[in-house]
Amino acid sequence: MHAPKHSLPQRSTLCIHAPDAPDGFAALTPPIHRASTVVFDTPAAFRGRAARLYDGYAYGLYGTPTTRALEDQIALLEGGVRALLLPSGLAAIAVATIASVDAGDVVLLPEGFYGPARAMIEQLLSRFGVGARRYHGDATVELAHAIDHRSRVLWIESPGSTTFEVRDVARMAREAHARGIRVAMDNTWATPLGFQPLRQGADISMQSLSKYAGGHSDVLMGSLAFADEDIYRRAKDVARLLGYGVSGEDCFLVSRGLATMPLRLAQSAESAATLMARLETRAEIAQILHPSRPGHPGQDVFARDYTAGAGLFGIVLKREFDAAAVDTAFAALEIFKIGASWGGAHSLIAPSDPKSERADLEWLPDGPYLRVAVGLEDAGDLAVDLFRFLDALSRAPGKSAA
Ligand SMILES: *Cc1c(COP(=O)(O)O)cnc(C)c1O
Repeated sequence: MHAPKHSLPQRSTLCIHAPDAPDGFAALTPPIHRASTVVFDTPAAFRGRAARLYDGYAYGLYGTPTTRALEDQIALLEGGVRALLLPSGLAAIAVATIASVDAGDVVLLPEGFYGPARAMIEQLLSRFGVGARRYHGDATVELAHAIDHRSRVLWIESPGSTTFEVRDVARMAREAHARGIRVAMDNTWATPLGFQPLRQGADISMQSLSKYAGGHSDVLMGSLAFADEDIYRRAKDVARLLGYGVSGEDCFLVSRGLATMPLRLAQSAESAATLMARLETRAEIAQILHPSRPGHPGQDVFARDYTAGAGLFGIVLKREFDAAAVDTAFAALEIFKIGASWGGAHSLIAPSDPKSERADLEWLPDGPYLRVAVGLEDAGDLAVDLFRFLDALSRAPGKSAA
């Protein structure tokens, strides 16, 4: 990995300055390498190729100068000793988990964990003897209750998927480490620009680069950054044995996205703040969910620990609006598209039902739930669009008795 020459630059600078190309070609952007075969000078070098897995080049699947350059850049951004790229955020969660457990061990995960990752652990890894235990909140008591001698890794997602509860990561990491449990965090929402899991005590920081880093809804990738070389090597071994690698073209797209991520993230968050302020005036809404909102679970921790936030938030509509009325109102939207994922230039909205799969949402009002991902369109246009939706909702016949 390329060590910084002097003091470490700001993270917005690190997003733009990719490490120098090893072959000395002087362009501002890293070259795209494509390769399956890597060739060797001698049979002895070929026979010893396994030794090149972590630091050199042995086979295209295990790394090229293109993938290594992006890994180095992400390690610097995250403050980690190493980073590893995987074909998706979900694959990154899988690799970090499998690298941390044996059969008989238990994975601790929050109720609000990213749904497909929860299913991967609870439905797939369970078939191989890996247990899962969900915890609520971040209270020390809760964790103390969930942890037992089989617990091996604690996953934290902060803010939590869909409902955005913010957790006290440093405190949870201390609690877990005191019991010899590894700490892994899904930091996709805030990105390393907003929060630095490794500096707060996590051992592994995971991001879906498909979101703000890719930034244009056209690439899938995930990353892990590591606090120590040993866990990096374990994760690299798992990725190798599962046959996970990433393409040079995809790295190029992520690297290009990273350069503008600080601007895009700031714009998305600012437009989201504008929209949330405008939406407060609307009687159709019961609650708006975002870590910056007064009274939001963990809002004090967010104010203390986060230096930036994302433009992804939730809306709970008043319970008098039934599902059919909400579905009808979607037709009034002209700019927002209906879709999953987020972090791109296009604004997205999608219905969701967090209470259907979680047992820790007593605090969340009943009512139809929408997740809003704010893109880069004009914030005024976006507000007009959401007002069109709410006007259509108010006019819809499908109201149940309040
Ligand atoms: C999208 C997302 C993932 C999964 O990322 P993919 O790249 O789509 O596999 C994981 N965690 C969170 C919080 C996400 O939003």
